[in-house]
Amino acid sequence: MNRAGRMRAIITIDGPSGAGKSTISRQLAERLNYTYLDTGAMYRAVGLKAKQEGVDPADGVAMAGLLDNLDLKLSANMGETRVFIGKADVSEAIRTPEMGLVASRVSAQGVVRQRLTELQRRLGGQGGVVVEGRDMGTVVFPEADCKFYLVATPEERAKRRQLQLREKGQEIDFLEILAQINKRDADDSARALAPLRPAADAVMIDSSLMSIEEVVAYMLTFCNSKGILQDSSEIG
Ligand code: C5P
Repeated sequence: MNRAGRMRAIITIDGPSGAGKSTISRQLAERLNYTYLDTGAMYRAVGLKAKQEGVDPADGVAMAGLLDNLDLKLSANMGETRVFIGKADVSEAIRTPEMGLVASRVSAQGVVRQRLTELQRRLGGQGGVVVEGRDMGTVVFPEADCKFYLVATPEERAKRRQLQLREKGQEIDFLEILAQINKRDADDSARALAPLRPAADAVMIDSSLMSIEEVVAYMLTFCNSKGILQDSSEIG
């Protein structure tokens, strides 16, 4: 039992886009038998809905109305997050570079942050979760048991993102990806609400020269040192 009285821990992983957060969070969650919560997917889904309905992300009243009627569901399937708006599976549609930029715009809107923060606390507040985003350790779960802040050089992140997109059949110029990454980081860091920054008590990890396995192993060792062990309550 930890200080907050939870049997299972809350682990946060924040950092800029393309630092490897998703893959690493998923793998860490698997190793601990925890649930993985991808909060970027929620901002992307809100962005997609705003685009579909022609709502301006800067219009707080219209965005509040959109959120009132948003039937957003996330389901974890074999370590993969599927995202649904109503019955429509939008998991692929939200993963384009364009939707990353739209997500970044809607995420600066107060009402969006407020609603999604509530939802994230509802989904992750019981513990047994690895939550990934930009403000998990600073705003959403300041009392988390273990906080990581993952970085990598912009060039390394752009290279990884290009490979990821290529695997999905999308061929995008390296410099264009680098420019998008730099713009999104600058916007996410400069916004007034819940800006991208490490929590004072976060463990900083630079993954530029580390493999995914090395980062996950490092995180696991750190979690274990804090008494966070694999959860066996649902095994067997
Ligand atoms: O992590 P991902 O690239 O999917 O996130 C898309 C965008 O959503 C980010 O650039 C950021 O603007 C926003 N976001 C956020 N807070 C989070 C997660 C994502 O503002 N916790």
